[in-house]
Amino acid sequence: MTQRRGTIVLDPGHGGTVKVGGSSPNNATSPSGVLEKNITLQMAFLTRDAVQRRAQAEGHDVRIVLTRESDVNLGLAQRAQVAQAHGANLFLSIHCNASDGHNARGVETLVRPTAADNPNHADDAAFATTIQNAVFMTIKKADPATKNRGVKEQQLGVLRDHDLGPNVRACLVELEFIDIPAVDALLNVGPAHGKTRAEIADALAGALIESLPVA
Ligand SMILES: [Zn+2]
Repeated sequence: MTQRRGTIVLDPGHGGTVKVGGSSPNNATSPSGVLEKNITLQMAFLTRDAVQRRAQAEGHDVRIVLTRESDVNLGLAQRAQVAQAHGANLFLSIHCNASDGHNARGVETLVRPTAADNPNHADDAAFATTIQNAVFMTIKKADPATKNRGVKEQQLGVLRDHDLGPNVRACLVELEFIDIPAVDALLNVGPAHGKTRAEIADALAGALIESLPVA
C-alpha cells in the first residue's frame, strides 16, 4: 500500500433557500421528495467518514474539509476559495443530476476546459477519470441500468483555478439522475439505499486517497 498525504476539500452542492454567488439553493428533486442539496451533504459526510476510516486503517496522512456542514448556501467562488485557504491538493464538488423528463441515466464527472483558463487541465482530467470510474463501477454493481457518461468539459464557476489555487486538482461529480424513480429507489427509498450510499462514499474515498501525492 502506497502511503499518501495531503488535504482534500469536499463541496456538497447547493444548500439553504436563496441563490448565492451563482449557486442555486437546490436543483434536482427526487419523486419521493428528497432534495439534491440534502443528498450532497449526506454523501459528503459519508465520504469524509470513509476517508478518515481508510486513512487510519492504511496509514495515510489526510486532512479533509467540507465547504459546508449544514443547510446553508455558499457562492461558487467562495466554495472554491476554501481549497485555497486550506492549501488543498484536491477539490471535489458533489452533485446529483436531473433528467427533467428526458429519462436519462448515469454518472458523469466535469472538469473546466483548457480554453476556459484551466492550466492544469490534464491533472484535473486524470483526477476526474479516477472519480468517475470509481463511482460508475460501484453504482453499476447495485443497478446495471446506470450508464458511464464519462468525463466532460464544462465552464463551471466552482472549478476556477483563480479561486481554487493554481495546483489544486478539481472536478465535479454528478452521482446519477435523482428525478428518475429507479434512481430514487437506488439512493433514497429502496431497501438497499443506505448500503448503496455507503458503497459510493467508500469508492469516492478510495479514489480521493489514490489521487493524493505519495507521502
Ligand atoms: Zn447540482
